[in-house]
Amino acid sequence: MYGKKMMLMLVPAILAAQDFSGAKALEWTRKAVAFGPRPAGSAAIAKLQTMIRAELTAQGWQVSEDGFTAGTPVGPKVMRNIIAKQNGTSGRMIVLTGHYDTKAIPGMNFVGANDGGASAGWLLEAARALAKLPRKHDVALVFFDGEEAFGEWSDTNGIYGSRHLAEKWRADGTLTRIHALINIDMIGDADLKVVDEQNSSPALRRLLRTAAAETGYGKYFPPQGIAIEDDHMPFVRLGVNAVDLIDFDYGPGHSYWHTAKDTVDKLSAHSLQVVGDVVMEVLRRLQM
Ligand SMILES: [Zn+2]
Repeated sequence: MYGKKMMLMLVPAILAAQDFSGAKALEWTRKAVAFGPRPAGSAAIAKLQTMIRAELTAQGWQVSEDGFTAGTPVGPKVMRNIIAKQNGTSGRMIVLTGHYDTKAIPGMNFVGANDGGASAGWLLEAARALAKLPRKHDVALVFFDGEEAFGEWSDTNGIYGSRHLAEKWRADGTLTRIHALINIDMIGDADLKVVDEQNSSPALRRLLRTAAAETGYGKYFPPQGIAIEDDHMPFVRLGVNAVDLIDFDYGPGHSYWHTAKDTVDKLSAHSLQVVGDVVMEVLRRLQM
């Protein structure tokens, strides 16, 4: 009898561990890309916002928005971070983040399948996979707007959404409750190589690489270390335990990045699955 009860308790946990679907993440990515170029403030990104909010609500998340107007080199842009939350009991919070905007590139039909599309699709699938799991900590999923610079990247042009939310969460005290923040970016490339991002928390980098090795996915996490300014940085600078999962080698000589070649045919469900499985394992090890 005792043994049977143990079985009943264990089986759902094992199923849950395999629940993230790379195929479903790719389907969401396709739907996002089908809206066309999605720069901050565009009509296309408004359609994607509606889709994201509807799906998160349907999955049972509390959805809120961090909206603001950013001053950019091409004038003011309305931006909206979309935040999905479910409460735990510990008072601490685990945050999964990624951007859903695409870079405005005048004269180019830049649809950002990997850069902006895959992160949005992956987060929507994470929302589905995590919605019904038991949790100790609060879990927040954040879809950042305005990651991309308008024109040349600088300290003040780019990562608008994450800079805004980090400041808001510093002011209202939320930052002090964050147990871990995991940002994902450009993780749909069929030739997946997640860099060992050097600005990230050393403890989370170790945890991530251990989880990857022990789930059999170590080869997708080569030891190549580079430092990248991404949406985790406003949080890192404010002392948050944060890590960035990014593949910054997209196509021969990185030639698909920010070009019309960043299309869905360059992506694979398997890559999204690898990142999904590894992040779910990291969440277990963080005792979500
Ligand atoms: Zn980009």
